Amino acid sequence: MGEMLVLIDHSEGQPRKLSLQMLSAAAGLADDAGASVAAVWLGPGAAGAADTLGAYGASKVYHWDAEEAHGFVTLPQVEALQAVLETADADVVFFASTNHVKDVASRLAIRVDGGVITDVTGLRVEDGRFVAIKEVFGGDLITTSKVADGKLQLLGIASNAFPAEERGGGSPELVAVDVALSDDATAATVVSVEKQTTSDRPDIGEAAIVVAGGRGLGKEDGFELMEELADVLGAGVGASRAATDAGWYPHRYQIGQTGRTISPTLYIGSGISGAIQHRAGMQTAQNIVAINKDAEAPIFQIADFGVVGDLYQVVPKLIEELEARKG
Ligand SMILES: Cc1cc2nc3c(=O)[nH]c(=O)nc-3n(C[C@H](O)[C@H](O)[C@H](O)COP(=O)(O)OP(=O)(O)OC[C@H]3O[C@@H](n4cnc5c(N)ncnc54)[C@H](O)[C@@H]3O)c2cc1C
Repeated sequence: MGEMLVLIDHSEGQPRKLSLQMLSAAAGLADDAGASVAAVWLGPGAAGAADTLGAYGASKVYHWDAEEAHGFVTLPQVEALQAVLETADADVVFFASTNHVKDVASRLAIRVDGGVITDVTGLRVEDGRFVAIKEVFGGDLITTSKVADGKLQLLGIASNAFPAEERGGGSPELVAVDVALSDDATAATVVSVEKQTTSDRPDIGEAAIVVAGGRGLGKEDGFELMEELADVLGAGVGASRAATDAGWYPHRYQIGQTGRTISPTLYIGSGISGAIQHRAGMQTAQNIVAINKDAEAPIFQIADFGVVGDLYQVVPKLIEELEARKG
C-alpha cells in the first residue's frame, strides 16, 4: 500500500473537525497499513491550510484550486478525485460520511470499481486491507465489513468516531492536480449560497454535544428551553421528525433516517420516544442521556443515563445545576 487519501471537508478555508479526525485516524493506522497519509483538498485554499493538515498527519496534499471544485455539485468532485487517483498510489480513500460526500463517493466507486462503506465508527488493518466497523438497524447490530480484494476502498467516516490529535508533523508537500472536467460535470453550477442560520451554535453534524427535542415538548416554545440548555453546554440543537413535521423546529435540524446523522460525544434527548428511525441518526453518540416521562420509552434501551420525569421539571433544574457549576 502506498498512500491513504483523506478527502478534506472544509469551510471558509479551514478543514472541518471531522477532517482532522479522519487525518488522525489515518495517521494512527499508517504503520499497520504500510502507507503514508495524503490529504485531498478540492477548491481554493490548500496552501493556507497545509500546515494544519500536516500537523494532523498529512505528509502530502493533493489539491485542485478551481472554484467549481468546492461546492454542492457532485460531478466536478468525482472527476477531480478520479484525477487524483490517477496520480496517487492509493487503494483507500477516507471521506466524511455526510449526505453530499456519500453521493460523491458512490459515483466515484462506479467509475473506478470501488466499494463504499459509510458511517464507519471503527477501523483496523488486516492483511493490508481495512476492516470497518459500523452500527446498523438503529444500533441493534454492529457489522464488520471489508471492501472486496482488489477494489478501491472508499470509507465514509462518522463524525466524532475518532479523536483529532495533533502529531506535530511538518509542512506537507503540495501537489497540484490538473482536472479537465467533462461536459456532464459542468452542466450544473451553483448560482448562489445563502446561509440559513445566523446562530452561533455548532452544527449538529460536528457538535461534541447535541441537545434534541421531540413531540414531548408539546409546543414550539419548548425549543426555547432546548436552546437554553444547549447554550449552557455549548451544544447544537436537533429535533425528532415529529417535532420538525409539527413545524416547531426547521427540518434541517431533524436527526434520523430521513434527517441528519450525528455522532456527538454527548446526546441529550428530551421528550423523544426513540423510534428506530430516530435512533438511526444518533445511535453512534458516545453517551446518550434521555429525559422522558414514560419509563417504557424505547430510548431508555440505548440510553447510558436516563431520567424518568417531566422534561419541564427536569431540564430547568439541569440548566440551573450546570450554571451553578460553571460559576
Ligand atoms: C420512513 C420513515 C422515516 C422516518 N424518519 C425519521 C427521522 O429521520 N427522524 C425521526 O426522529 N423520526 C423519523 N420517523 C418518525 C419516527 O417513526 C417517529 O414517529 C418519531 O421519531 C417520533 O418522534 P418523537 O419521539 O418526538 O415523538 P413520540 O414518538 O410521540 O414520542 C414523544 C415522547 O415524549 C414523551 N413525553 C411526552 N411529554 C413529555 C414530557 N412532558 N416530559 C418528558 N417526556 C414527555 C412521551 O412519553 C414519548 O415517549 C420516520 C418514520 C418513517 C416511517
